[in-house]
Amino acid sequence: MLLRHTPKEVAERKALTINPAKTCQPIGAMYAALGIHGCLPHSHGSQGCCAYHRSALTRHYKEPVSAATSSFTEGASVFGGQANLLQAIENIFTVYEPDVIAVHTTCLSETIGDDLKQIADKAQKEGKIPAGKHVIGASTPSYVGSHVTGFSAMVKSMVAAFSEKTGKKNGKVNIIPGWVEPADMEEIKRLATLVGVEHILFPDTSGVLNGPLSGEYKMFPDGGTTVADLKATGDAMGTLALGELCSGDAARLLDSQCKVPCKVLDMPFGLRATDRFVDALRILAGVTVPDEVALERGQLVDLISDMHQYFYHKKVALVGDPDQLVSMVEFLVTLDMLPVHVVTGTPGKAFERRIKELTAGLPCEVNVRAGGDMFLLHQWIKNEPVDLLIGNTYCKYMARDEDIPFVRWGFPILDRQGHQYFPTVGYKGGLRLLEKILGVLLDRKDRDDPEQTFELVL
Ligand code: SF4
Repeated sequence: MLLRHTPKEVAERKALTINPAKTCQPIGAMYAALGIHGCLPHSHGSQGCCAYHRSALTRHYKEPVSAATSSFTEGASVFGGQANLLQAIENIFTVYEPDVIAVHTTCLSETIGDDLKQIADKAQKEGKIPAGKHVIGASTPSYVGSHVTGFSAMVKSMVAAFSEKTGKKNGKVNIIPGWVEPADMEEIKRLATLVGVEHILFPDTSGVLNGPLSGEYKMFPDGGTTVADLKATGDAMGTLALGELCSGDAARLLDSQCKVPCKVLDMPFGLRATDRFVDALRILAGVTVPDEVALERGQLVDLISDMHQYFYHKKVALVGDPDQLVSMVEFLVTLDMLPVHVVTGTPGKAFERRIKELTAGLPCEVNVRAGGDMFLLHQWIKNEPVDLLIGNTYCKYMARDEDIPFVRWGFPILDRQGHQYFPTVGYKGGLRLLEKILGVLLDRKDRDDPEQTFELVL
């Protein structure tokens, strides 16, 4: 009963977060940077920040995450970290030989006011950046935003640093996947290939954070979007940005910088969002949807209809990142479930409006909060109990205290494996989501059913 002190009465809090539903901006920037081939993320701040950010990613992805740090001590904290970063850039290119160093700031370096662009320019002038190598940077103070905005800032900086317009279109479509699992990025590429769309996906952590155990250590794994592909994004026919918060800014910058038109879509979780993604791909490629994709869709529809009796009007509480929650809530509504409590730690009123729109026709009140925390979600659950909880690993305390069936989904998942290998996007991913949800609901039924209704066949 770890959260037994959570009271039922909800009191408005302005200056206190309890059990946050988000984490540091730099974690998102680091995850995005790992999606560039041959890139070493660099944390411009103290060693403690870098150690925390690396371990957060390592614990979720179960892969070693390498990143460098400017190692601020008292001197840098007072006078600024320029000297540390210049030294770091020289050392990193000499010792580790990455193609790209992706620098993100931290609370400390932002508070001092270090200017990453000015420091990178100085490094260039002083010959510390070898020919053909690159230093990019994103501003990611953690006292604003969340890991989601940090991810978005680093993806935008990729466009600013690399995208080039040569004047000759390359016939490809840029896909910005947003913060999804490496397996999801693989699945998005597979769907695009099936529909017949030549694409550049960036960032791309597949093959980086879900690579094979080969017995050989590679400082820079085989996966990731290459610098050549990042440059070529400026010559693409168009951009599909998946998730407004994660990918919208980068897509719009690409539009204004290189005149590549963009469309911002929801992340393709669930039936309808995947339909919209496939439809956008189909229109770009000028083709009809191939039979193979239609078959996958039909299988998802079949499973939904088979399982519908167990889903109907089950109440669900969700916590996670905004782009993911928007699509998941839509999916749950499609299944005739009732998402009654929805919390994200990332601020933004547009999220609350979107969830209200998606749930407008439901026969129940829906609580939604952007910039909320898990304490609030727990209080809402105490007032209006639910049949299912969906969220990251931290939800396990709530699930145990309130005895609620629990599906782990989102970031971080620290106590289970497999999320980096099994996609939940697309039609195939929809099958996996349904299986996970139905599994916990029927396990609960089996646990609670009296002997006379304890059935072999369900
Ligand atoms: S909140 Fe700021 S100081 Fe703390 S780990 Fe994150 S970046 Fe570092």
